[in-house]
Order: sequence, then structure tokens, then C-alpha cells
Amino acid sequence: MPEVAPGRQTELDTADVSSFPALIVREPGAASLEQLSDDDLPEGDVTIDVQWSTLNYKDGLSVTGKGKIARSFPMVCGADLAGVVASSNSADWKPGDEVLVNGWGLSETHPGGYTQRQRVKASMLTRKPEGFTLQQTMAVGTAGLTSMLCVLALEDAGLTPDIDGEVVVTGAAGGVGSVAVAVLAKLGYSVVASTGRTSEHDYLTSLGASRIIERDELATAGRPLDKEKWAAGVDTVGSQTLATLLAQTRYGGSVAACGLAGGNDLPTTVLPFILRGVSLLGVDSVMCPAPRRDEAWRRLAADLSTDLLDTMTTVEPMTKVPELAEAILAGQTRGRVVIDTSA
Ligand code: NDP
Repeated sequence: MPEVAPGRQTELDTADVSSFPALIVREPGAASLEQLSDDDLPEGDVTIDVQWSTLNYKDGLSVTGKGKIARSFPMVCGADLAGVVASSNSADWKPGDEVLVNGWGLSETHPGGYTQRQRVKASMLTRKPEGFTLQQTMAVGTAGLTSMLCVLALEDAGLTPDIDGEVVVTGAAGGVGSVAVAVLAKLGYSVVASTGRTSEHDYLTSLGASRIIERDELATAGRPLDKEKWAAGVDTVGSQTLATLLAQTRYGGSVAACGLAGGNDLPTTVLPFILRGVSLLGVDSVMCPAPRRDEAWRRLAADLSTDLLDTMTTVEPMTKVPELAEAILAGQTRGRVVIDTSA
């Protein structure tokens, strides 16, 4: 049986699926809630009753219109969705299957997850991983998937828990950062969380950070080769912060770069690469191939405590997304925000 949140079944049973709300941008600018019908859904093999979505930094950009995310209009916002297959023309999926989509162009080139109904290509779907409820898969969402892709990239570059030294995570109280801190700590690393919010120190300690540093320590320009501090890093901030991480990463270490919360520039030199053999590992979740996603979801099931995931998650109604979109761009949201598409 598909997992159904308490109190939800009645709503779904009585829902008028011929008309449903969705958060949509019709032209460059901010999104608004509109009623859509199945006639508005795109081409695709599988139609999904969407129960949950989530809020990522990119969703903040698309919903406020402050970033060029949608490549065509009209576009339903939301980079993730989770729900139950309503109908399928694909042999791989049948009605009642619990599924999710992370990325694959949702809200960019394909209508996204802020809706109660969506249609996608069968190849975009991931089966709900064992160990997570559908709601928890959206607590992970693109942000959490990206955190695990960063961990996998660091491991591929040679990082192991018995390595001596600290792993630093920037933008630590955000979505990607929170999951990265929790996963790395559970794996046994000594995790240093970099944050601009003193109010989140206890929260980051509760996720497993062994110590906390102020965001400004990394955001201030230093020498091209600084004192060696980090065995590895996960960077969600970019710009000077990433440049400082590279300058402070010790010989042979690696930094996984996935974000630009502080800017998309990179004022670095080649010195960390050619004198210390430091590796800069680029991480993308949107078009990440399916086998790597499956590996990441398997590892999330094994290495992310769902109890901790629940403590870093808030659940909000879809009607509140425009307000939350402003908040995430201002760096004011903590951890992960799940969106209830029925409310
Ligand atoms: P969040 O807003 O949840 O987290 C970002 C965090 O960065 C904030 O919480 C804050 O953390 C810190 N921050 C915000 N503004 C600044 C600033 N001006 N300078 C320094 N630090 C800042 O976003 P997400 O976790 O969802 O995403 C983080 C980044 O990763 C984004 O840039 C996003 O686009 C990118 N991303 C990339 C993906 C990929 O596939 N490559 C996928 C998902 C996300 P604190 O308060 O602790 O300092």
C-alpha cells in the first residue's frame, strides 16, 4: 500500500483531480498559484499524484524570479516531487507505485513539483527507497541528494573515516550543509561546520559537528596558500569561501563544490592544485546519471539517521512557498523544508 500521511486519505479521495493548484511562472518574474487541469500536463509516460515537494535554494530563485531557472514558459516551479503513480504507459511503473523525482530539469525544462499532479518521462523516476517515507524522501530532496553526491565524490578521491584531520562543511545550517554534516558525522569524520548564524550553533552540534567556525573566517581573502587545515571540504557557498577552502586544504586533499550561495565567482590561483595536489570536485545533481543517484539513495538510507533528518525538517503548505522562497535566498531557512502540496 502506498504510504499516506495521517489525515490525508480523505482529502485525496474527495479531491477533484480535474482541477488542482500549482505554483507557476507564466513569464520571467515571480510565480503565483493557479488552478490547472490534466489538459495542462506535459507529454510523458507516467502521471503522478504529487503529495510532497521541497524547497531548495534553486526553488527560491525560480519562485521569486530572481534567477533564470525556467527555460520556457509557462513553467510549474519545484525541482523535486514525491507521490503515487496514478497512471502509466511504462512497463516499469504501475498505479500505486511510490515514486520521486529529483532534478532532471524539473522547473527548468520540465514542469516541476509544486502541484498536486504531474506527468514525467518514466526515466526520470526513482522508486521510493526502503527506509524512508515519501515525506522523508522530500526532506532529503535535491539538497540532501547533493550532499551525498559530495560525500561520494570525496570518497572516490580517497577520503576515508580513518583519515587524520577535519572535514569542513560551509553553509552548514542550510539544506545541503545540514545533511552533509549529519552524514559525515555518522560516518565517523570530525566535522567542522561553518555558519554565519550563531543561533544555529546548538543545532549544528546536535547534527554531529565537532566544532563550529564563523562564516567570515572563510569569506575573507587570505594567502593563495594558507596554513593546511582541512582533510577535505564540502562547499555550498562558492566565491571567496571556496577559494579559502582550497588554500587551506592539506596536501592531497579534496573539496567538493556544489553551491553558490555566496557567489558564482572563484577568486583562486592554481597554487593549491600544483603545489599541494589539491582536487576540486564539481558536483551536479540535476543531470546526475541514474546509477549514481541510486547509489546515493542507497547510501543515504544507510548513512543518514532518519531521526536526525526529522529534526532538521519543517513541513510547510504549498501556499507558503512564495514567502519561503524569499527566506531561503536570504539564508534564513534552517535545514530542510518539505512542502505539502495538499495545503
Ligand atoms: P540553503 O539556503 O538552505 O543553504 C545555503 C546556506 O549558505 C545558508 O543557509 C547559509 O548557511 C549560507 N549562506 C547563505 N548566504 C550566504 C552568503 N552570502 N555567504 C556565505 N554563506 C551564505 O540552500 P541549499 O542548501 O538548498 O543550497 C545550497 C547551495 O547549493 C545553493 O547555492 C544551491 O544552488 C546549491 N545546490 C547545488 C546543487 C547541485 O546540483 N550542484 C543541488 C542543490 C543545491 P549558514 O547560515 O549556516 O552560513
